[in-house]
Amino acid sequence: MFEHLKPQPADKILALMQMYREDPRDQKIDLGVGVYKNAEGITPVMRAVKAAERQVWEEQQSKAYTGLAGDPAYSDAMINLILNGAVPRENVAAVATPGGTGACRQAFELVRMANPSARIFVSNPTWPNHISILNYLGIEMVPYRYFDAETRGVDFDGMIEDLKQARPGDVVLLHGCCHNPTGANMNLIQWQDVVNLINEQGLIAMIDIAYQGFGDGLEEDAAATRLVASSVSECLIAASCSKNFGVYRERTGLLMAISADASQTALNQSTLAFLNRQNYSFPPDHGARVVTTILGDVALRADWQQELEEVRLSMLGLRQQLADELQRLSGSDRFGFIAQHRGMFSRIGAAPELVEKLRVEHGIYMVGDSRMNIAGLNAQTVPILAQAIVEVGV
Ligand code: PMP
Repeated sequence: MFEHLKPQPADKILALMQMYREDPRDQKIDLGVGVYKNAEGITPVMRAVKAAERQVWEEQQSKAYTGLAGDPAYSDAMINLILNGAVPRENVAAVATPGGTGACRQAFELVRMANPSARIFVSNPTWPNHISILNYLGIEMVPYRYFDAETRGVDFDGMIEDLKQARPGDVVLLHGCCHNPTGANMNLIQWQDVVNLINEQGLIAMIDIAYQGFGDGLEEDAAATRLVASSVSECLIAASCSKNFGVYRERTGLLMAISADASQTALNQSTLAFLNRQNYSFPPDHGARVVTTILGDVALRADWQQELEEVRLSMLGLRQQLADELQRLSGSDRFGFIAQHRGMFSRIGAAPELVEKLRVEHGIYMVGDSRMNIAGLNAQTVPILAQAIVEVGV
């Protein structure tokens, strides 16, 4: 049997990381994989997470199974963090999932169950895992224009034009904030236009929110998601705690199915629990319990918010430093977009040959589509990167 297996395409980012590890140069810079790193290049366990883990360790009496939907207190805490009352609680069905990836996967499966002919409209570009999971599930996918290669902002007219091709029942997948991989985001007026289009054309909104607190702030980053959730008749929200709680390996996510009609919620809830059951039964609990502990404790929550804010501001500072340095070296404003982008990533819009040149000649590793992880920089490496970008002629 095994001889019939075909090699699957290697994950490009993981392959890049392997090359980085094997590169003997001292001055190499890793701007590849999407994890937050501090100025020392470390992905720390957040203070509140350590404290909550200690508390869980001391107080937890049993590791018997939770419910199929996970701990309801986790769902409540996360719904509150993301939606903050934007829709009535009784309209929201929710389950814990293994990370944001698990939430996306289950959301796609729910779409396929409910409407097998629905197509999913995805931004061009989007997080590559969206595409590979959709392909794996055999769900038809339609890319919509999103990134403007000229301005490195959102090609909003192109986006709207493409979304107008959607048929009633098709799903529009949107990144709630901090778009991955581009860093380019819509403003709230544009979001409202997208909401109007969704409603006019009878489309279903799906939001993937994986970086709440990494862009403009915890509340600001949830504003678009709240707007959508409160304005459409039905939507799906896939959320991840990997980044904003720094619990990557604990696999901590949440999937919500929201209906304007509360009488639908029980069926939505049992369907989400059913999907958990088919895929892995009970979702992971440790990360979820830590997150619930933090969000439910005034002091821990305040400390978490403070540390998250430090993370956010450090990335904004690096963005500004890089944009300033590039302006100084190139004598032009064309890199101003780096300071405008939000989140961990920016697509700098360099051709693949230049990305390759940055790696070969300067030991700078970014993903082939020229996505760089801003958190891979520090105050000392920003000038080195800026010099290299100008030298290779981006
Ligand atoms: N969605 C997007 C857009 C992401 O960038 C990520 C993380 N790379 C995720 C979802 C899910 O992450 P995780 O499964 O690690 O929580």
